[in-house]
Formats: sequence, C-alpha cells, structure tokens
Amino acid sequence: MLTLNSDISEIPKVGPAMAKRIKSLGLESVSDLLFYFPYRWEDFSQIIKVNQVRPHEICTIRGKVQLITGRRSFRRRRMFITESLVADDTGSIKVIWFNQPYLSKILKTGDEIILSGKVTMDYLTPEFTSPSFEKVKKEQTHTGRIVPVYSLTAGISQRQMRFFLKTVLPLAKNITDFLPAEIIRSNRLMPLSLALKQIHFPDRHEILSKAAQRLKFDELFLIQAQVLQNKMYLDKAKAPKVKFLESVSQEFVKSLPFKLTNSQKKTAWQILRDLEKPSPMNRLLSGDVGSGKTIVAVMAILNTVRNGFQAAYMAPTEILARQHFEKIRMFLKPFRVKTALLTRSFRESGGRKISKSDLMKKIKNGGVELIIGTHALIQEEVNFKNLALVIIDEQHRFGVAQRKSLREKFSTEHKLISHLLSMTATPIPRSLALTVYGDLDLSIISEMPAGRKKILTKVVNPEKRIKAYDFLRKQINDGRQIFVICPLIEPSDKLGVRSVKQEYEKLKNEIFADLKISLIHGKLKSAEKEKVMNDFKNNKINILVSTSVIEVGIDIPNATVMMIEGTERFGLAQLHQFRGRVGRSSHQSYCFLFTESDSPKTIERLAALERSNDGFYLAEFDLKTRGPGDFTGIRQSGLPDFRMASLSDVNLIAQTRAAAKALIENDPELNNYPLLKQKIGDWQKEMHGE
Ligand code: ADP
Ligand code: MG
Repeated sequence: MLTLNSDISEIPKVGPAMAKRIKSLGLESVSDLLFYFPYRWEDFSQIIKVNQVRPHEICTIRGKVQLITGRRSFRRRRMFITESLVADDTGSIKVIWFNQPYLSKILKTGDEIILSGKVTMDYLTPEFTSPSFEKVKKEQTHTGRIVPVYSLTAGISQRQMRFFLKTVLPLAKNITDFLPAEIIRSNRLMPLSLALKQIHFPDRHEILSKAAQRLKFDELFLIQAQVLQNKMYLDKAKAPKVKFLESVSQEFVKSLPFKLTNSQKKTAWQILRDLEKPSPMNRLLSGDVGSGKTIVAVMAILNTVRNGFQAAYMAPTEILARQHFEKIRMFLKPFRVKTALLTRSFRESGGRKISKSDLMKKIKNGGVELIIGTHALIQEEVNFKNLALVIIDEQHRFGVAQRKSLREKFSTEHKLISHLLSMTATPIPRSLALTVYGDLDLSIISEMPAGRKKILTKVVNPEKRIKAYDFLRKQINDGRQIFVICPLIEPSDKLGVRSVKQEYEKLKNEIFADLKISLIHGKLKSAEKEKVMNDFKNNKINILVSTSVIEVGIDIPNATVMMIEGTERFGLAQLHQFRGRVGRSSHQSYCFLFTESDSPKTIERLAALERSNDGFYLAEFDLKTRGPGDFTGIRQSGLPDFRMASLSDVNLIAQTRAAAKALIENDPELNNYPLLKQKIGDWQKEMHGE
C-alpha cells in the first residue's frame, strides 16, 4: 500500500527509468513529491464555445471528436501529423498535433474532450496547434481547470507529472500539520493538507492564493524559528574570554603600511568588545569587495593568540586559503604568530611543508596558533587545543552545519563554543538581514581605503573590440596586468558562448603573440592553479584568462583591467565581484563588459554596472528588477532557495517572526511541539543540502 514514506518507485506507473528521473529532481518519497510545488499555473478553467475562440489567444473548448486521422508529412520534414475536427453546438474547429502518432489510438470519433491551447490562424480559419487535451471526466487534470506546471527534467512530461501527483494527492490528508493549532488560528492559515491539495490542483484562484499564503508562511516561519533557536542557544552558551590587549593592537596598527579607515576601526572595535563577553560572538562583517575586511579579522586573530588561544580561518577555495596564508603571515610577521595552512597540502610557519600527522599533533598541542584552511578544517581528525575564534571568509559558501561544527571544536575536553566572525562581500538588504541572518550581529564596512580611484566601467560594442585590445597593450606596456573572464572552460557550439580555452588560444596566437598569457579554471590540478596564481602575483604573466574560479577574494593589486566576456551569463552580483578583482591599488583601473546579447534586461543590468561601483546599490537594483520567485542572484549570496516565499514580502516576514518569537520564548527547545521540532531539523538539512 502506498504511504507518505513510500519510495517514488512504488507509485503505480512509475517504472525504474522514470523513478530515476524523478529522483534526479531531488525527490525520494511520496511525501517529497507532494511538497514539489508547481512554479506556475495555467488557467484553462474558462470553457468557451467554438464560435467564440479568438486567434492568438489561449482558449479552452469542450466538444466531440468528429474526425481524427494521422499521416506522415513529406512537406514538413517527415513529421507525423495528427489532424482532427472537434465540434460543439456552435461549430467545429480543426486541431493539429505533431509527432504524437499514438493520439489517433487514444482519441476516437465520438469522444467528448476538452482542449486548451493557443489558437492559430491557417489562412483565415482559426485552428488549434498542439493543444493540451483530455477526455471529459468527473474531474479534469490537464484541461478545463487551473492546471499546474512543474519545473521538470528531460524525460518527464507535464502530463506524467500531473498524473503522478493526482495519484498521490489523496495521501495529503495523512500529513499531520506541524504548525501549532494556535498559530494556524491566529494567523488564519489554511490547514496544511488542504493547502497541499490546492497548490497542485486549485479549485479557484482565491483558494490557490490562500494555499500559497499558507506554504509561504511555513517557509518563513521555519527559518525564523531556526534562527531564533540558534540565538537562544548561543546566548546561553559559554565562550572563552578573550581580553582586549590595547598595546598589542596599537603596535599592530602602527606596523601596517597604510592607515585604517574609520569603518575598519569601528568594526574592529565591535569585534574586540564581543570577544571579551562570556557568551560566543556571532557576528557578520559585511563590506564591499576590496573594503579591507581581512585586516579587521587579523586584529581579532592577534588578540586571540596573544591571550593564549588558537584561531582558525576558513576560506572556500584552495587558492584563497593559500593567498590568505601568505598575506596574513606577512601582516603578522612582527608578532611571530605560529601559522599553518591546512588544505589538501600542509604548511607551517615559515611556509615549510609539514606532514599531515605532524600538523595534526601541533594543532592538538598548541604548537600552531593560527590555522588557515579550507573545508578540510572541519574534518573529525582535526582536534584543537583551545580554538577560541573561528573566522569564515565568504560565509555564503558554507552551510549552517559546517559553521557550527567548526565552532564546536574548541577542544575535546571543554564544553566551550568558539567566537564566530563571518565575512561577506554580498551587501545584505535589511529585510534579509532580519530574516535569514536574524541571529547574527552585523558590522558594516561602509567605505573604501583612501586613494582608491573609481573603476571605470564600459560596455564595449563588438566593433570596438580591437580598440579595447590596443588599450590592454598600453596598460601592459605600463607594467600593469589583465584579467579576462569567460563563462565556460570548453568551447560550446550550441551556446556560442566564449570559452576560456578558445579565448586563451586566440589571445596567445593572434592578438598578443609576444606576451605572456596563461589560463586558469576549476579543472586544473591544485598544484597547477597554485603555480599560475603565483606567477601572476609575481608579474610573470601579463594576461590571465579565467573562469569564475577567480570570483572570490583574489588580491592582485597590480592588475588594472578586468575584461569580462559573455556578461549575459553572469548575475549582477557576480559581475560586481569580478570587477572587485581590480581597483586594488592607486593605479586607475578599468572594467570592460562584452556581450553578444541584445536583450533589454542584459543591457539594463550592464548599464547599472557602468553607472555604479556601489555593491549595496547594485544589490537593491537586482532585487527590484528581478521577477518575483526568481532567485538566481540570491542563490549566489548563499540564501536559502525558497520554493514559495519571497524575501521581499516584508509583512509576512514580520508576521512569521512574531509568531516564531512568541513560541520559542516560551519553549526554546520546542519540546511541546515535537513535530515542529523535527520539521525544523529536516528542513534545515534540505535547505543547505547537507
Ligand atoms: P576584502 O574586503 O575584499 O576581503 P581585502 O581585505 O582583501 O578586501 O583588502 C583589499 C586590499 O586592500 C588588500 O590589498 C589590503 O591589504 C588593502 N587594504 C586594506 N585596508 C586598507 C587601508 N586601510 N588602506 C589601504 N589599503 C588597504
Ligand atoms: Mg576578502
């Protein structure tokens, strides 16, 4: 018997191949399928008469099949054509389908059917081309109603998906509502099982919107509850006390080759004060690309190790971890902090290689004070002596559980929780800060170091490409270096998008044969990547052609031109990140944007980049110009991928927050609500793909 926990493959008519395809959508069980919501609906509910159909509009009619035939067409590239005549009491209309030879077996003369689709004109006569169709039944699934449309993968049709959902939908009534009854009542929400039924096969528009409201509420409520729980847990937890060491901090600031900005001073102060508190810091440091977040983190690190504790710095990629290892060691040189690198390879203080087991020992016995690394830091075998401070760079690249597991590594003996400093260059609109990051305190670096010139950004038309190359050559003659970003590694004829390999060959052989040009992408071995980055840093390479691996954090102050190909393939936030790779010194820097697309949306977005260098402005712009439900840009910023809710729905955010707060303040562990408690756990795992 089919239950909510049954595997997808147990659903009638789902064979092994189909089960595999459905599973590729991330759906394992019947219950998963019920929670796979349509991304839009077609309104085929208004049935009109044949004599009322209007050309070029989507229409739905109901009538009898008067005639149906199939044949192979020689004119139309040997396509199989099914033609039919369907009539009601006002007249008849021609219907045509392509390449569905089985249709004349399913539909027979005399069948009563409903048709929905676009009406086209064959000369002066209206006809239906490839409409949805369905025999008249007690209850329709594909026509004559509001019909769900799912986001699917090759080999599953909308018809099949609707059929499977129809099959499992009666089981929705077995789902117990995880929301406490009082919350359902006071927020006037639809019961969950009804909302599930209506979201897939809505009876009417008003009911659909009530169902959607309920499911949006759930998503926002769950995230709020989780965030508030985490906040309460941290408020109660104990952290190592890291004293603010004034003279060391002053010495450090004096040792720097530049003056700190006011923002850097202010945020460093907020952090250093948090470290003195007995409960763990949970702070997000947000500042645009190049605003100098690293140095602020280093001040916190120095205080921590001088208090006799260890600190860990986690970066999302090997390239970045290595770069931080080099750079932070340089800043900390006068202070003799014992620093190690832990990625797939292992280094200790002087940059010397060290074996894995020796490094593990040193981390355990305090032989190293600062450990910089990638995800490798989280591994179980890494045990610290007394890890008081965890720094996470580009925090959106890590999941909640990853952050949590690192900060619970203070030591094997103590139950202390490390202080956490997360860093991000993604500007966070206020509504998001309240929701998703509601458990974090926020520090913002709002200014750039003095002396930086505004990066000049230009969209370059194809006919000016040669001129742009001339410009690059002048920059290189002046000693500067260039980044070229392409969307793909390998050429792709189908997409006509520029690839790193093609571009590299072209620049090397045709345009700049006398210059030193290299390429870097995610498929290179890490040793190769390391060598390329080192050579680029030491100005042994003039032009570096790269995929988006270069996106986060790379710091090469001598690079002054960022040239981006296929800009229509990147999000606005990502383009802004790329641009932030230049403009890191007192030299004037440039960003050239290329596109083959002339879609108004692309043009508008590129114009925004030309106009503004301000990440916050661009984030707002992005949020405004993106259609509702389109979270592609947001996904990059590491926010959860909601199925229903929108983060711009400020009212619902406030409403769900109030509801979650009332509940959790009375029952922090949610012990009176076991179903809700479990749901939060499951949901958290799912959202972060852990
Ligand atoms: P991000 O905030 O993007 O992580 P970084 O910390 O990498 O930025 O800093 C960017 C560059 O600016 C680095 O080369 C860093 O040494 C330099 N820098 C940081 N603070 C200042 C400052 N106050 N004045 C001048 N240069 C600075
Ligand atoms: Mg950085």
